[in-house]
Amino acid sequence: MRVLIVEDDPALGPSTANGLELEGFAVDLRSDGDSANAAMVAQKYDAIVLDLGLPGISGEDLLRGWRERSEHTPVLVLTARGFVLDRVRLLNLGADDYLVKPFDLLELSARLRALGRRQGSKDDVMLEFGQLLLSRSEHVAVWSGTRVELTKREYRILDTLLRNRDRVLSRKQLEEALYGWGEEVESNAIEVHVHNLRRKLSRNLIETVRGAGYRLTQNVEPS
Ligand code: CA
Repeated sequence: MRVLIVEDDPALGPSTANGLELEGFAVDLRSDGDSANAAMVAQKYDAIVLDLGLPGISGEDLLRGWRERSEHTPVLVLTARGFVLDRVRLLNLGADDYLVKPFDLLELSARLRALGRRQGSKDDVMLEFGQLLLSRSEHVAVWSGTRVELTKREYRILDTLLRNRDRVLSRKQLEEALYGWGEEVESNAIEVHVHNLRRKLSRNLIETVRGAGYRLTQNVEPS
């Protein structure tokens, strides 16, 4: 399992990296946001250990930026003792877990393995709905046997509708699934993405339920 540690503390960073290496992880250590982003372009990680108190871009802003550009690598946040950041806020930011310093290395290692297992099982899923197949590892759709490239946001809408296939999802719910916490959303953004999905896949795949929202429908014959 390959882990990126983003921690600027000159003692804690290297000791955590060494400790995790001894636990069998492949580890890269970076001490600021820019070099962390550069490492993530070059390498796919199974999990990221993120210190919130970084020089330059804060850990919070880094995490928000990753989630906004649909970078879903699991993130375990390290917070300083006495630093009050409630769980709801961390989850809103897109963190998957957190530990308060000083932490036990074995605890960190156990939690990272748990995140890796969760991610592994998530990535293998191929969702199916009638003539539609959606690959969660590649973020592409296959419609009637033809591969269809989707933008990240189109993918997220389709993925959210598929996972909630028995429900009608409101525009608000789809916006929440699509955009980061506190991010400005254009009022017609969802309509535009749904329009594009209908154009790329089938015009009847996503049904508009008047006054309620959207749901997937198996009735894909032209009406
Ligand atoms: Ca720090």
